[in-house]
This record gives sequence, structure tokens and C-alpha cells, in this order.
Amino acid sequence: MIAGTLAKIDRGDFAPADIIEREVAVIGGGAAGSHAAVRIREYHRKSVVIIEKEANLGGHVNTYTDPTTGKVHDYGVAMYFPYEDALDFFTWMNVNISLTSPGGQNNPIRYADFSTGRELANYSAIEAQQGLAAIQKFVEITTEKGYDKMVQPGYFNLPAGKAIPEDLLLPVGEFVKKYDIQAMLPFIYPSTGGGVGSRGDFNKLLTLTLMKAFPPGWAKAYLGQLPLYAVDGGNQRLYDEIATLMRRDVLYSSVVIESSRAQGNIQLVTQSRSDGKKKLILAKKLLIAVPPTRENLAPFDLDEAERAHFSKAKYGRSHTALVSHSKLPEAANIRNTPESAVQSPIAPFLQTPFVMGFTYANDLAPARVHQISVSGDNYTAFDEAAAQAAVQQALENLAKGGTIPDLEGEKVKVVAWSDHGPGGFGVSAEDMRAGWMEDMYKLQGRRGTWYTGGGLGADFTTMLWKLNDAVLGGLVKAAV
Ligand SMILES: Cc1cc2nc3c(=O)[nH]c(=O)nc-3n(C[C@H](O)[C@H](O)[C@H](O)COP(=O)(O)OP(=O)(O)OC[C@H]3O[C@@H](n4cnc5c(N)ncnc54)[C@H](O)[C@@H]3O)c2cc1C
Repeated sequence: MIAGTLAKIDRGDFAPADIIEREVAVIGGGAAGSHAAVRIREYHRKSVVIIEKEANLGGHVNTYTDPTTGKVHDYGVAMYFPYEDALDFFTWMNVNISLTSPGGQNNPIRYADFSTGRELANYSAIEAQQGLAAIQKFVEITTEKGYDKMVQPGYFNLPAGKAIPEDLLLPVGEFVKKYDIQAMLPFIYPSTGGGVGSRGDFNKLLTLTLMKAFPPGWAKAYLGQLPLYAVDGGNQRLYDEIATLMRRDVLYSSVVIESSRAQGNIQLVTQSRSDGKKKLILAKKLLIAVPPTRENLAPFDLDEAERAHFSKAKYGRSHTALVSHSKLPEAANIRNTPESAVQSPIAPFLQTPFVMGFTYANDLAPARVHQISVSGDNYTAFDEAAAQAAVQQALENLAKGGTIPDLEGEKVKVVAWSDHGPGGFGVSAEDMRAGWMEDMYKLQGRRGTWYTGGGLGADFTTMLWKLNDAVLGGLVKAAV
């Protein structure tokens, strides 16, 4: 064994061309990991390598290009709102952005219960004015009480476990009742992916978890008080530019299969998912920018404390897609809404798994395509096949219930599909009180490892880029 390597990984097992030495290794090339790697190399002037399991960068970004018309539609990350100076990153990357608005919003909406298939003829959603006033009040309350600073961009200012404000650990249902802002719920439900990336009934979620998916900064954008932008030509362009810039500093279609981590001495064995080839990465520091699930962290040589810590987080799983079916209405949306919402419009919550709705993609017309999101609460089981079965079932139910015509045996056609994997990261009130978040921040830098990304902050790109700036400040300064 060569000096400087830890016991279990032997440098001698790798040809020199398969050994990559860098200051920092970044796991995951999504919104957080890609941005962090650019900042580390170009701003902090440290060498870096990204290990990304897919064949491209961008994570939740999905840009579809219609092969016939060349029209482009983002069916994953759709838009960006300003947060501090985060949008400057687009300028720095020389990527043009333009004002945009949420897709499909001008289409008429029909409400139907996708489990019975029946249209809710007597359903009148809460007046937009009432819903928007409630969201405005939510912004005022969270700002006045300083909750905005506790939850965005990361949780640096969240008080220690026992001192976390009671409000933040209330279930959402109790929080909105306390402040008489229940009318916001049906409005924010679809925007949070249906109860924060797939958990269905968001009355049961913690307000703190809700604020990851609906932080006050995003609420302002939702109210139209902040502009929304998208990248000209599709959001994937930014990540393609990053890929061009980072060139050989990215290992695509690769995952870590074995590692050892110590202060100043990170060793990772990666394996290509395409040709099975292994490489050895020797780095001084490690930045984990993937959801910290048990599976993602398994190869990272966790010690008992780390394992216990990360096992407490819960996740759902969601998919987004573009689908077509000739029986779906053109230029109209169908929103999945339980029949119980006729009596209780403030609680249009769905049982998982669910399809949130069929939203007509106007920008792809004349192609007749609807955008969907599908969510389940078991992130290991709710795979693409299970999600596609849920879509077909929803259509069959809608036909049986008379909302759409008989399917005549026609199956749903998948135009584009993206499995967004585990999301909706949340920890119980009890664990939060016991100091889970303090412990999370104490892990920053331990064993040469830092963490960033959607699990660790408000789950929006521009906020994560500012979270990165804070995390990287610590990472770069840390002695090795
Ligand atoms: C459907 C959807 C729509 C959204 N829309 C918006 C929006 O319009 N605006 C907005 O600001 N935010 C939006 N968000 C939230 C935004 O996508 C997240 O805040 C952001 O993508 C999180 O970035 P991340 O880098 O933490 O994770 P991700 O973007 O998920 O990146 C993680 C990366 O790591 C890779 N990876 C995963 N596991 C491994 C592994 N074991 N080894 C190596 N690589 C791995 C993944 O392939 C991925 O590239 C949306 C999210 C979803 C799911």
C-alpha cells in the first residue's frame, strides 16, 4: 500500500490514468452541485471534480424539444425568481434569461376526483382574491416573526432545537388555523408538488417542512411581487454551458461505490454505469450535493453517528412527464381534487400515490401534450413503472366516471418522462426539538465532508445557490 492512502483502498489497484487528484470532489451535478463546482474552481480557484450519476448535468431540469416543431418546453424546473444576487450566476455563465409565467395558467381548469373519475360539478374553488390575501398574510407573519431568515436560504439562523419557535413545528393545518390563513392551502398545494413533493395530506406536515417548498421568498414570487425568469431556449442550456466549462472535471454516469473519509484525505472509488470502469479520486475535501438518503450515502463509509442522523429524514418520490392521449381535452387542464373538497375546499388533499393533474402544454401546440406530476410516498418503491401505472389508472377512472370519453383501449403515450427521485425531505418535530438541524450543521466539515442541496435548505435553485455560497465559505477556509 502506498503511503497516504487509508487501509481499505489501494492506489496500486488503479492505473495512473484512472487516478484523479483534486482539492474538492463534489457528489451530484444538479442545481447545487454544478453551481458549487463552478464557484469552487472559477471563484475560489481550487481544483474540483463532479461525480454525477446521469449522463448530463442539471438534476431536476428537464427541457423537452419537440422533434417536429423544434418547440421547447421545460417540464421539470420551470422558472427562477430573484433571491439576493443569485441571478447574477446566469450573467456570469453568459446565459440569457427572459421573463416567463407559469405554464398552462390561462387554460380553463376542470376539477375531477381521479380516484372516482367524477367531475366535481359543484366545486367552487376558493376565490383567488381570498387565497392570495392569505398568502400575503403568510408572508407578513413569517417576515415579522423572523421565520423567513430561519428557513432561507439554509437553516443557519434556525434556533437550537428546544428554542425553535413553536409555530414552525406545528402541523401546517394548525399553523394556518392559528393565523386564519387556511384559504392559502388550495393555492399552494399544487405549487408544493402536492404536500411537499409527494406527501399528500399536508395538514400533517410540519410548517417547517412546508417552508422548504413554500418559503416566504417564493411566496412573494407567487404573488407576482417578484419577476420569474426562464433560460432562453430551455433551462437545460445553463447546465450544458456548465458542462462545456467544466469539461473533463465531470465524471458522468458515475457513482461512488466505496470510500474512506478523513480530514484532508478523501478517497473515493467511482464506477461508470455505462462501462463499469473504476476510478480512484483523491481529494482533500468532499461536498455531498445529492439527497442524503440511506442509499445515496451507503458508499460513504458513514460512522454510527452519521448513520443515525441521516436515517431520521423522510422522503417521498415524484415524477414529471409529458404525456398525450387523444381523449384528454385540448387547451384545458384537469386538476385532481378529492370529492371531499366540495364540502371542504381548504383541504383538497390527495391520497398517495396520485397524479396531480393534466395541464395542457400550450407552448407545444399543435402537438396535443399534457404535463403531469405523479407522486408517491415510498421513495424506494414508487418507480417509473409504478408511476406510469398510476397515470393509466387515473385516465381509466376519469373515463369510467364520465369526465373524459371512453378510452377505447388507447393507452397513455409517454412523450417524455423524468423520475425526480427522492424529495420532500422532512424530519419530525420531535427530532427537530432534539437538535437534528444543529447536528446537521455540526456535520459540516466533519471528516472532510460538507453537505449542500435541496435537503439542506429552501428547495429552490436561486436559494440553493446562496446556500452554496455560505457552505463554500466554510469549506474553502477550512484547514486540511
Ligand atoms: C418537478 C420539479 C420542479 C421544480 N421546479 C422548480 C422551479 O421551477 N424553480 C426552482 O427554483 N426550483 C424548482 N424545483 C426545485 C429545484 O429543482 C431544487 O431546488 C433543486 O433542483 C435541488 O438541487 P439539488 O442539486 O439539491 O438536487 P438535484 O437537482 O436533484 O441534483 C442532484 C444531482 O445528483 C445526482 N445524483 C443523485 N444521486 C446520486 C448519486 N448517488 N451519485 C451521483 N450523483 C447522484 C442527480 O442525478 C442530480 O443530477 C423543482 C423541483 C422539482 C422536483
